[in-house]
Amino acid sequence: MELIFELSSPGRGAHAQHPPVAADLSVVPSALRRASPPKLPEVSELQAVRHYTQLSRRNFSIDTHFYPLGSCTMKYNPRACNRLAMLPEFLGRHPLAPESHSQGYLACLYELQEMLREVTGMAAVSLTPMAGAQGEFAGVAMIRAYHRARGDEARREILVPDAAHGTNPATATMLGYVAREIPTNAQGDVDIEKLKAAVGPQTAGIMLTNPSTLGVFERRIKEIAGIVHAAGGLLYYDGANLNAILGKVRPGDMGFDVIHMNLHKTFSTPHGGGGPGAGAVGFSERLKPFMPIPIVGKAETRSDNGSSPAFPESRIPGPESRRYRWLTEKDLPQTIGRLSAFMGNAGVLLRAYVYARMLGREGMHRVAEFATLNANYLQARLKAAGYDLAFPTRRASHEFIVTLKKQKQELDLTATDVAKRLLDHGYHAPTVYFPLLVPECLLIEPTETEDLQTLDAFVEAMISIWNEARTDMSKLKGAPWTLPVRRLDDVRCARQLDLRWTPG
Ligand SMILES: *Cc1c(COP(=O)(O)O)cnc(C)c1O
Repeated sequence: MELIFELSSPGRGAHAQHPPVAADLSVVPSALRRASPPKLPEVSELQAVRHYTQLSRRNFSIDTHFYPLGSCTMKYNPRACNRLAMLPEFLGRHPLAPESHSQGYLACLYELQEMLREVTGMAAVSLTPMAGAQGEFAGVAMIRAYHRARGDEARREILVPDAAHGTNPATATMLGYVAREIPTNAQGDVDIEKLKAAVGPQTAGIMLTNPSTLGVFERRIKEIAGIVHAAGGLLYYDGANLNAILGKVRPGDMGFDVIHMNLHKTFSTPHGGGGPGAGAVGFSERLKPFMPIPIVGKAETRSDNGSSPAFPESRIPGPESRRYRWLTEKDLPQTIGRLSAFMGNAGVLLRAYVYARMLGREGMHRVAEFATLNANYLQARLKAAGYDLAFPTRRASHEFIVTLKKQKQELDLTATDVAKRLLDHGYHAPTVYFPLLVPECLLIEPTETEDLQTLDAFVEAMISIWNEARTDMSKLKGAPWTLPVRRLDDVRCARQLDLRWTPG
């Protein structure tokens, strides 16, 4: 396919899209003005439309393909969420608009805070972090602020199970902690004896994912909470993916003190390619003074008849036009501060709000039920087809792991071979080589939004790959055959990526 610059010919353009405007350039200081026009491709409107449409069709996306990417939930993004988040009243709102002009927008964010608070069982929620990793940073910064406020400066370690997402030890390190690894046992649970040996007066907290990134639910979570709390540490819940427990089990009830959740995974806002996200944080009563700002507070009115507001500091009677307001440093002097301009990704938060409202209480349960049903169905069918499970005695949560350790030794079949061949069958590959604990692994997450036909067709593709590994290995080693590029050099792609085009 040609580059759009190669389609360019002098004088062509898409004038219908751009009626000339007589701009008054005198308002732009001369130092900021271009000396010569930018070197843009000169193409017709039709050329531009075809070019970008063709490019977009070379992508894998949830809108075009089944995308069973473990750990990074890729579920369907309902169009209604886009439609409502893009109402002109939201899009046209200036971020510095006064509160009295923003009551509708603030009400949406307040209700989102409340829904997330309730579904996680925490005392309050802040929406300001713009990614899961930033939510982790906020949560661990609150743990640090809590210990510091008590003059407890000796706590230098954060415990992280070896199954954890890489962002967990990275977060602990960024906040100046030593990340201390806790091993997992053969069933995929935290090794309790090793945990007991590791906790002490140096423990600031533990970062846990439950269900873990191994796809299994940590059964002794209450015991773990007891051990860490007894040593004076706090519990951090990596809630990037709540799909398996949404509306069923609450991290607050498991004993966690602080949690982040990826609205761009569980709450179905579009992501991928490093796109915008939201890593809302929830926290227990004792961490509330340190929460990141701003958050939305609600002033009490007579119609609120006694329901307890999440933020008692916002009990300021006021006129209806000032019912919702930003709470800032003035309200929360011990806050860890601001993490984003204004308050996070407005468009992402609005989509998540609409999604949560559309689900309602009943729908949240059903997300967890269908996410786990789909994962367990796929797990059982792949097992019957001959694939080895990393934890064959455990039920899947929202995801599960297939390992090709044996097939690698016997046939030289690797996780990469399966992943690349799946592309030829029209499926985005599952996550491969993560978690690091399991050799030649595929971490598969179907999500609740896929139907039985899609899951069955995926199993058929996996069976055909299984058979090819025994009859014609070259089909697998050379895959993908149907895409614009064959197998790339992964290391050079990452280390020497060169996407710049310069005129010849
Ligand atoms: C995706 C993910 C994260 C990080 O979220 P980002 O939004 O990519 O920063 C952290 N933990 C787990 C378990 C995840 O799946």
